[in-house]
Amino acid sequence: MGVAICPKHGRDADTLIQRAEVAMYAAKQQKSGHAIYSSELDQYSPHRLTLMGELRQALQEEELALYYQPKIDLKGKKMNKVEALIRWQHPKHGLMKPIEFIDLAERTGLLKDVTKWVVNKSVEQILLWQEKGLLMNVAVNVSPSFLLSSELPEIITGILASNELGGSVLTIEITETSIIRDPNLAYEILNRLKALGTDISIDDFGTGYSSLAYLKKLPVSEMKIDKSFVTDMLQNEDDEIIVKSIIDLAHNLGLVVVAEGVETKEVALRLRELHCDLLQGYYFSKPLPADQFEAWHASFSPDTPL
Ligand code: C2E
Ligand code: CA
Ligand code: CA
Repeated sequence: MGVAICPKHGRDADTLIQRAEVAMYAAKQQKSGHAIYSSELDQYSPHRLTLMGELRQALQEEELALYYQPKIDLKGKKMNKVEALIRWQHPKHGLMKPIEFIDLAERTGLLKDVTKWVVNKSVEQILLWQEKGLLMNVAVNVSPSFLLSSELPEIITGILASNELGGSVLTIEITETSIIRDPNLAYEILNRLKALGTDISIDDFGTGYSSLAYLKKLPVSEMKIDKSFVTDMLQNEDDEIIVKSIIDLAHNLGLVVVAEGVETKEVALRLRELHCDLLQGYYFSKPLPADQFEAWHASFSPDTPL
């Protein structure tokens, strides 16, 4: 039995029935006989449950894809860094973004397979680009729960070795959450990754609560300012102060700074004034499939990025 209460959980019949149904699925899942709706239970909605089952198949049937978004170097006069962002080309629902399925992968124990797939696919793409004379460093995103499962260094070592590549072709993007959850373990794993030659980047910086003491100790080389501070920084003075402080902090720690979520030329110009090293965002390019990225790359002049 699923329970939804009016008006707390909805004011019209459709919403209430849908939410009661979500609660009913949760009750089945928990084998509890009944459950009262709460927003956390939305993960058990019939839609989500179906997706969970389909994700396993998607991995085998090549429905997953990587899109690539450039990180523009403002000083280096080169364009050789991209971030790989996962997509699911779902036969019924179309192109799905990671927010719709990454946590499902986590809940169904598929995160390891998904991460392996991402690293494999990235390395495959790096080799294809190398054949065309494009030397790219690809950044892959690793969720906190998988980083801390300690298997990542072995997986990456295996994939690099079987493709005869050094670790310097990859960057691993982790969030502050990974570090806070278990600083000692994160320290150990990141050092093993660093030993392979891969760069480590702290993603979404500013949204977590990293202790500066840890930051100094970790083998990190890049910090990415979260887009929530960047996109509207010219309209919001607080955001601009935060962005400026993060850039100074990163530089004082000897790190390269990337601003994500750069959507306009004005923001890009301001970030250059603030000495940000790399920019990423829709102003330069949306994340693109590999072939479209190549076309973008061919028409981009790294000497005059702005
Ligand atoms: P993220 O790592 O912070 O990635 C940046 C997100 O911002 C991407 O969303 C990107 O498409 C979007 N973005 C880029 N430029 C702009 C811009 O100028 N404006 C705005 N508003 N957004 C911009 P996406 O691709 O939907 O990815 C969302 C999150 O999903 C990522 O956040 C990352 O945490 C996670 N993710 C993506 N791929 C993977 C993956 O392969 N594995 C894991 N574990 N997580 C992934
Ligand atoms: Ca990222
Ligand atoms: Ca981010």
